[in-house]
Amino acid sequence: MSQGRAASAASVLFNLGYRVLQVVRDEAGARTVTVETVTVEGACPSCGVFTSSVHQRTFQRVRDVAFDGPITVLWRKKRWRCWESACDRASFAEHTGQVPSRRA
Ligand SMILES: [Zn+2]
Repeated sequence: MSQGRAASAASVLFNLGYRVLQVVRDEAGARTVTVETVTVEGACPSCGVFTSSVHQRTFQRVRDVAFDGPITVLWRKKRWRCWESACDRASFAEHTGQVPSRRA
């Protein structure tokens, strides 16, 4: 199945640490792959306290990838809630060094 191939392609592209949530193929054959990290907690950049509380999720378009046809990758990004009472930062966005930068 082409959907399975797209899913495994995205897994290769993102290597470990991400899982594919959804692959949608439009009529032109272009696929949109939605991924998220498997991370279950994040460290607050202000206070350093770890939290596993997800405040909300947002979608970030990572880039277009030419892999057996066009693929748009959407990163379903977590925003963590910091519960540390002494911390001014209520929430903070997930970040990762694994999102590839643009390849020319
Ligand atoms: Zn904090």
